[in-house]
Amino acid sequence: MPPLDTPDQKSVAVIGAGWAGLAAAHTLQQKNLRVHVFEQSHTLGGRARKVHSRKLGRTIDNGQHLLIGAYSDTLRLMQELGLDEQENFLRQPLDISTLNQDFRLHLKSTLPAPFDFLQALLWAKGLAFTDKFKLIRALLTLKRQKWRVPQAQTVGNWLKQEKQTPFLYQAFWEPLCIATLNTHVNKACMQLFARVLQHSTDAGKQASNFLIPRVNLSALWAEKLSKAIRFTYGKSIQSLSITPKGYQIDSLDFDAVILATPAEQCAKILATLPNSENQAGFMQALRQFSFNPIMTITLELEKNWQLPLPLYLLKTEHPQQDPGQWLFIRSRFMADTGKSVRPEIAIVISQASEWLEKDKPEIIRLVIGQLARQAPENLPLPAVTAWDIITEKRATFSAEPGLHRLPNATAWPGLYLAGDWTDTGFPGVLEGAVKSGQLAARLLAQNLTS
Ligand SMILES: Cc1cc2nc3c(=O)[nH]c(=O)nc-3n(C[C@H](O)[C@H](O)[C@H](O)COP(=O)(O)OP(=O)(O)OC[C@H]3O[C@@H](n4cnc5c(N)ncnc54)[C@H](O)[C@@H]3O)c2cc1C
Repeated sequence: MPPLDTPDQKSVAVIGAGWAGLAAAHTLQQKNLRVHVFEQSHTLGGRARKVHSRKLGRTIDNGQHLLIGAYSDTLRLMQELGLDEQENFLRQPLDISTLNQDFRLHLKSTLPAPFDFLQALLWAKGLAFTDKFKLIRALLTLKRQKWRVPQAQTVGNWLKQEKQTPFLYQAFWEPLCIATLNTHVNKACMQLFARVLQHSTDAGKQASNFLIPRVNLSALWAEKLSKAIRFTYGKSIQSLSITPKGYQIDSLDFDAVILATPAEQCAKILATLPNSENQAGFMQALRQFSFNPIMTITLELEKNWQLPLPLYLLKTEHPQQDPGQWLFIRSRFMADTGKSVRPEIAIVISQASEWLEKDKPEIIRLVIGQLARQAPENLPLPAVTAWDIITEKRATFSAEPGLHRLPNATAWPGLYLAGDWTDTGFPGVLEGAVKSGQLAARLLAQNLTS
């Protein structure tokens, strides 16, 4: 039973039910504020949500997501909601391997971080001695610099500066940069990449762990939020009006608001406030982002592909023929939901701009060819019985140097921002979204009660 509202309870509107908005809603509700979430779609989770695949006849995710142990705020939030980690995630030490394991970086050492990572690099399979030496030297230099680099530096420039070999560039740095920043090496912001490297190699023993969700992304925690939080679905908020009490949205009065939509929707909504023209720099910062797509391909197989690991790095030596970057053997980790899990794999293409115009059956043909060529001889790819492709055209903001990322507080009293694009220190990822939602909610609550 939802608790009854008390007359003096302050009320807050959260616009947007992605991970940022929902983390904000949860934090506000815990602070005993009355919370109302407005979401334009009919599903919780935003860019990390469940979708119905007509082609496959079942629920899948809008994109395969991977969390890491360093996502401390996200994991703490899930704990607060009583989530059993083992039931909901496959957690394993960092393990990056190609399908035939001619390249493998497996962190299994008992040394403390970052020495466990450095040892894994020394033992890595498929790297020549020079590669290992240059890679370790580059990471130690970054650590010595306290993971700080010039603000304008791109990952590409840094790789040149650190004299990384062409093999390291192509087999290690490029896949890592694209997977974590969804931005091409030559455009990607080195400072953000350095933070990613810091979080995964130098932030404690379990920070580099992979956590792969076993249930769909909406079921993971969003659907477990308190029943006291009210939701209005299918409502795209276009404007806000200022009232003596605070703000009015859809004829409802609120003391304060958190805008947890992507930046350009925030700009549209804020432009309806009377004094937004006085905030030219702020409004410009909201409109500066460009976005990169991610494509996720789900293949249903005739039978399980008995590969030993849940996740593989795919080789992309021939970019026109090898679209896939990462392979997830979904039937190895998805929880059995009653019906037996169908043999299913997911292939991820980050920074997928060049594949947007391609015919989908052609992409499937290429991916099947790529998997068949790279599969170990004794474990060939089973026949594909069905497929679906989901393209998120605006999956994440392009993580380029010089972005002006805004703080959570705004010049409007009682009005806060949340989203992976705010000044989180992370690229466009789940942990950034959650952190921003929690921070916006804490600032708002402090302000309302002071
Ligand atoms: C395919 C894909 C794969 C990804 N993989 C990973 C990964 O492996 N690991 C990782 O950490 N991150 C990953 N990400 C990034 C991660 O999903 C995002 O960083 C995160 O979901 C962003 O959350 P958010 O709440 O900031 O924004 P959003 O999820 O975009 O939430 C904004 C919400 O606001 C709603 N909205 C917008 N306008 C309005 C309006 N006017 N009125 C009402 N509601 C509105 C939207 O419908 C949406 O629900 C991936 C993203 C995609 C798309």
